[in-house]
Amino acid sequence: MCGIVGAVARHDVTNFLLESLHRLEYRGYDSAGLAVTDNQGSIQRIRRVGKVQALQDAMIENPITGRIGIAHTRWATHGEPTEQNAHPHVSEHIAVVHNGIIENHESLRIMLIKRGYHFISKTDTEVIAHLTHWEQLYCGGSLLEVVQRVISQLRGTYGTVVMDSYSPELLITARSGSPLVIGCGIDENFIASDQLALLPVTNNCIFLEEGDIASVTCNIIKVFDKYGNDVKRTEIKLNTKYDVSDKGVYYHYMQKEIYEQPLAIKNTLKNRLRYGSVDLSELGEKADLILAEVEHIQIISCGTSYHSGIVARYWFESLIGLPCDVEIASEFRYRRSVVRKNSLIITLSQSGETADTLAALRLSKKNGYLGSLAICNVASSSLLRESDLALLTKAGIEIGVASTKAFTTQLTVLLLLVVNIGRLHNISNQIVQDIIQALQVLPQRIEQILSMDLGIADLAEDFMDKQHVLFIGRGDQYPIAMEGALKLKEISYIHAEAYAAGELKHGPLALIDANMPVVVIAPNNTLLEKLKSNIEEVRARSGLLYIFADINAGFNNSVGMRVISLPHVEEIIAPIFYTVPLQLLSYYVALIKGTDIDHPRNLAKSVTVE
Ligand code: GLU
Repeated sequence: MCGIVGAVARHDVTNFLLESLHRLEYRGYDSAGLAVTDNQGSIQRIRRVGKVQALQDAMIENPITGRIGIAHTRWATHGEPTEQNAHPHVSEHIAVVHNGIIENHESLRIMLIKRGYHFISKTDTEVIAHLTHWEQLYCGGSLLEVVQRVISQLRGTYGTVVMDSYSPELLITARSGSPLVIGCGIDENFIASDQLALLPVTNNCIFLEEGDIASVTCNIIKVFDKYGNDVKRTEIKLNTKYDVSDKGVYYHYMQKEIYEQPLAIKNTLKNRLRYGSVDLSELGEKADLILAEVEHIQIISCGTSYHSGIVARYWFESLIGLPCDVEIASEFRYRRSVVRKNSLIITLSQSGETADTLAALRLSKKNGYLGSLAICNVASSSLLRESDLALLTKAGIEIGVASTKAFTTQLTVLLLLVVNIGRLHNISNQIVQDIIQALQVLPQRIEQILSMDLGIADLAEDFMDKQHVLFIGRGDQYPIAMEGALKLKEISYIHAEAYAAGELKHGPLALIDANMPVVVIAPNNTLLEKLKSNIEEVRARSGLLYIFADINAGFNNSVGMRVISLPHVEEIIAPIFYTVPLQLLSYYVALIKGTDIDHPRNLAKSVTVE
């Protein structure tokens, strides 16, 4: 979501702060701001609604400089995206940036108003600034002690950095739920909510853990845990090289990431698929002890990852007979659920920082699950660190807000996991061989689809003026229909819904007329005949059919029915394969509608607030 950066150095830090904000733009935001303590010891602040470029332009007109500063891209949760609500928020000599939500902000606000504070913004964040000011003025102590007292009064999930112009060499940063990383330099140190922001200045990072508070000067970094103990957090050397400014030959990151999928899948399979077998020894020695005991799988995830969870349920149950349930994290975490015997919790998240998924994982630890396994795309993420077992998708950094390669690599890892768990649960040799052979050809199958992109681009005009689109599929293609509908919603702003095709007559058929496009996913499998009946139901009501069909499925173009013939694909990997043309369809519809494809309105990458 929103981004935080901070820096303290022996030289002006404004350029670093601005450049880092640019590097965080991919996460989605609505306003940006920056504050420094200048050489006279005063806070100087500039904020703008809209893009970081607007902030940069404002700083060219009114230059400010300082050797210590904080900056922020905001994704509004409390208060509209206005300049007044943009961060940093200031209370006299205190300036604060904050990601996340302070849940008890209302009671704190009332208390602070009684103490005489005047609130300028509608944000929850402003309470941190005034509370810090009050604690310092009336209770005293070092800035670290002051922030420790402030933090103890806050409820919610957040990451924050506090700057005090009375201590012009020191930043205090605290983490509770939202990620924070400290970048270690020589005679300069940095803070960010995302390691990408730090890439131009350092590869050496310290990831703060839950409840940590750190004090950061030019040459000293001290970390204290939630109990106030002075702790040592390991400095990690990152080898991330991705340059976010590089779209290569593509117009958008999303387009680039769609086309990267064959490579991303190859990287995800590398060293895990060899000599005709699956090797997940990276899970460590204790893995088999846990996995052999598993009698039930509970998958928890959100958004696109929820859809890969549903596909995995089909796989776990049909391929190895292991009962599996899938639930949206924000629902799971707030209901009392029954824990099945020997149940393994699997969490799926691109970023590994999704607030609801993390909260669900933490809750599961109290509820007697057999163990936890995380699948995500960021090696340094909280989800991986906090799970018993972890598997990385090796998609490479995903910048487009609408997830593409993270989804297909998640599914790839899930298939590997089916084999790995299945081996301890009498999976048949034939199924193992089918999965392995299918995975081996998957990158090349996706390349085949990508080479058909112009045919799919041709369809986009038919959709651009539509208000609603239905997506239907059966079996493991139903979640792919859901994912196709989500992609179209996210980037083209067309309302799209997915239905299991058999459900049409239970309601949605009422929507069908000559204006309603219905996208059908039609592989040549045992459900094809059933699907054909559903297609007839739509035809009989003059619906506009767009059928993504196996070349042998026996469909022909006719009035009201457009067939996109796709090569035959192995049944096991068909859900991954059919995802790609739907991604392309959404992309091209959004392209002709002229939406902001990489930063769709109101959305953010990595949802670190609940
Ligand atoms: N809740 C804060 C606000 O609305 C921070 C939002 C964010 O994470 O950017 O300003």
